[in-house]
Amino acid sequence: MNVRLFRPTVGEEELQNIREVFDRSWLGLGPTVTQFEKAWSQYIGAPTSVAVNSGTAALHLALARYGFPEGKKVLVPSLTFVASATCILYNRLKPVFVDVDPETLQVDPDDLERKADADCVAMVVVHFGGHPAPMERILEVARQKNLKVIEDCAHSAGGEYPTGALAGRKLGMLSDIGCYSFEEKKGMTCGDGGMLSSPDPELIEPLRAHRWIGIDKDTWKREKGLAQEAAESRHWHYEVSVLGYKYNMNDVAAAIGMAQLEKLDGFNARKNEILTRYLDGLAHIPRVAPLLPYHLSGSSYHMFGVRLPQGERDAWILHLKGLGIATGVHYMPIHLHPLLQREWEGADPTPVATGLWESFLTLPMHTALTDAEVDHVLHGLSSFPG
Ligand SMILES: *Cc1c(COP(=O)(O)O)cnc(C)c1O
Repeated sequence: MNVRLFRPTVGEEELQNIREVFDRSWLGLGPTVTQFEKAWSQYIGAPTSVAVNSGTAALHLALARYGFPEGKKVLVPSLTFVASATCILYNRLKPVFVDVDPETLQVDPDDLERKADADCVAMVVVHFGGHPAPMERILEVARQKNLKVIEDCAHSAGGEYPTGALAGRKLGMLSDIGCYSFEEKKGMTCGDGGMLSSPDPELIEPLRAHRWIGIDKDTWKREKGLAQEAAESRHWHYEVSVLGYKYNMNDVAAAIGMAQLEKLDGFNARKNEILTRYLDGLAHIPRVAPLLPYHLSGSSYHMFGVRLPQGERDAWILHLKGLGIATGVHYMPIHLHPLLQREWEGADPTPVATGLWESFLTLPMHTALTDAEVDHVLHGLSSFPG
């Protein structure tokens, strides 16, 4: 048995949508992207959304929207994928690494509050693993310290906030801007793709130009007050007034996304079944604990992980590999990458994350995983010779 770690689930529905795009022979930024943006906005409860070609691009544009002065600081948890922080560097801002809660592995609001000094302008909040970050405290700190909040929802497409006044709201719609990834390993995929959504359309709309070189085909007509006829004969005209990027989604990716979005709630429901099976099995395996306090209602968990006894991870990886079971590690804290080590000095800024990550192991979880495969992984864990 070979059990994959992640695997997208795509089928006839995606192929049919791609066929329609082919029949139209319009593959670039076009009507299917617009259709996907509308469908996504409706699903997530946003007035408007902007589709881009990756989650990384979404994060870059979200921060760029504010035009923060060079050198200002942005808070980011250290336990995440590097793209949560490279967006800060793209904008010539300085990352400040925030530690995580040892139980939930989500950003620690106390550390956030401690580190949010007068130079901090924003924070990137990650719902790590798909588990909701403690948004009520986070938003309270943001209010006090006057910080913009960007949610990195690469792990949490379709999940809902579970408790309190925000209960039932979709993750990504709790802050200023939500950024999503449709990379192939994420909750739903376009091959590659990303999305920006916000409760405030004025934050999002200007980014349409930024995601497409800076081209804005509509505002020049309005601004110049051209008559309909003159505007039509000038169909070739466009103006570039902002520095944009080649970050647009294309219609082929959007066609895949349309079919995936229809399946997203089903994907998350199937993942909850898989998680339930894993958690039930794990209860009988000493020495292996679940990575997160999984809370399976309205959730959108991106991965399933465990915590192993310190110092044993390599042996567990090899044991599972021998049984055909792929594993991963999510993540080495990002401040330990050489690129980001340059951004801090002195004592480790996030000792909890640094102390814990070497016990983490990610196990296979994707919507095509069968119960037999889950049982095989559980058997692999219980048969570890130790
Ligand atoms: C995957 C990921 C991203 C980036 O998404 P891409 O679509 O691959 O660019 C950003 N943040 C986190 C936490 C991720 O896991």
